Amino acid sequence: MEGFRRQLDELREQGMLRSLRTIGGAQGPRVTMEGREVLLLCSNNYLGLASHARLVDAACAATARYGVGSGASRLVSGTMELHERLERRIAAFKGSEAALVFNSGFAANTGIIQGLTGPDDLIFSDALNHASIVDGCRLAKARTLVYPHNDADALERLMRAEAPRRKGRWLIVSDGVFSMDGDVAPLPALVELKQRYDALLMVDDAHGTGVLGQTGRGTAEELGCLGAVDLQMGTFGKALGGFGAYLAADRVLIETLINRSRPFIFSTSLPPAVLAAAEAAFDLVESEEGARRREALRRNRELFAGLLAAQGFDLLGSTTQIVPVLTGEPARTMAASARLFEAGVFVQGIRPPTVAGGRCRLRATLMADHRIDELEWAAGLIAQVLAEV
Ligand SMILES: *Cc1c(COP(=O)(O)O)cnc(C)c1O
Repeated sequence: MEGFRRQLDELREQGMLRSLRTIGGAQGPRVTMEGREVLLLCSNNYLGLASHARLVDAACAATARYGVGSGASRLVSGTMELHERLERRIAAFKGSEAALVFNSGFAANTGIIQGLTGPDDLIFSDALNHASIVDGCRLAKARTLVYPHNDADALERLMRAEAPRRKGRWLIVSDGVFSMDGDVAPLPALVELKQRYDALLMVDDAHGTGVLGQTGRGTAEELGCLGAVDLQMGTFGKALGGFGAYLAADRVLIETLINRSRPFIFSTSLPPAVLAAAEAAFDLVESEEGARRREALRRNRELFAGLLAAQGFDLLGSTTQIVPVLTGEPARTMAASARLFEAGVFVQGIRPPTVAGGRCRLRATLMADHRIDELEWAAGLIAQVLAEV
């Protein structure tokens, strides 16, 4: 125990200790924390669906009818009507042949990459891909080559160099929206490369699903690549307000994963309430209300990022509802985050190992139901605090 304590003390001294903060009540644009109300600027509940009455009602009704648990993993006896209905819904939404639900985005990424690659295969992975993709590559028996962030030219050079000694399948994997930078993958260029080199393209659209594109189908819709991405992964836990994840793809890939993906095979399947909430979330995203919420989110994002950019802050290329403000070192970042919290704005500081040292940031995320006046106030406060620390 002494060794563990020393490790934690070292982290504390370096300004790197992480700890939990508790929110009282439901998720929303303003939440109660440590006994007072703060403006929540670090939630992925982008469209405000996490406490939406239609999702809550769907979850309650499904629980009353189907119970609280699924009783087993999918391949044993844990496949319920609700899993199949949701998978058909997702395939229709994404325009794919089939879909598969996973227990979380983390489980999906580790399970998809491990399940579709073997020892002779090669994975090309963006340098800023999410930790779950990194771990998926580690769990896979394939070799992984990391290409510089969003650099399709560098990726092309890697692919060209590898082509003469190619043995197996190639997989290009990228976040759609990068979770710590809020910028977007160059999907048209990646599609061109995957076609030229006969590779599979996988896009993790955890932050794009429900938000980007005219109808919320995500980064691929936004960039005009719907139908060209072989493996469209997304999650229910962010804009869709619930929990869990999916892959939309050709049936042969889905069947391969049912047979090979370890997190899919060896884990109890998602329960009825979660499945029903996800189905209701897709309905909402496709409704007029969904379009209105996307529009409000876009407006909020433009306003907030515009105010910070006008102050000269480096927003790291963000074009989405994830708006990072580069702060530099961990101590300054965490001091700014603490002061903002004192003043009533909860925005997380991001440090290594999530981002590289010296690239720490305050990472603000916008929601559709933030008000204009409170965003103006928060942007002003961030500028003031960063001038002081
Ligand atoms: C959040 C996130 C995940 C993990 O999804 P969970 O459902 O929260 O496990 C995967 N990829 C990206 C890019 C994410 O932001």
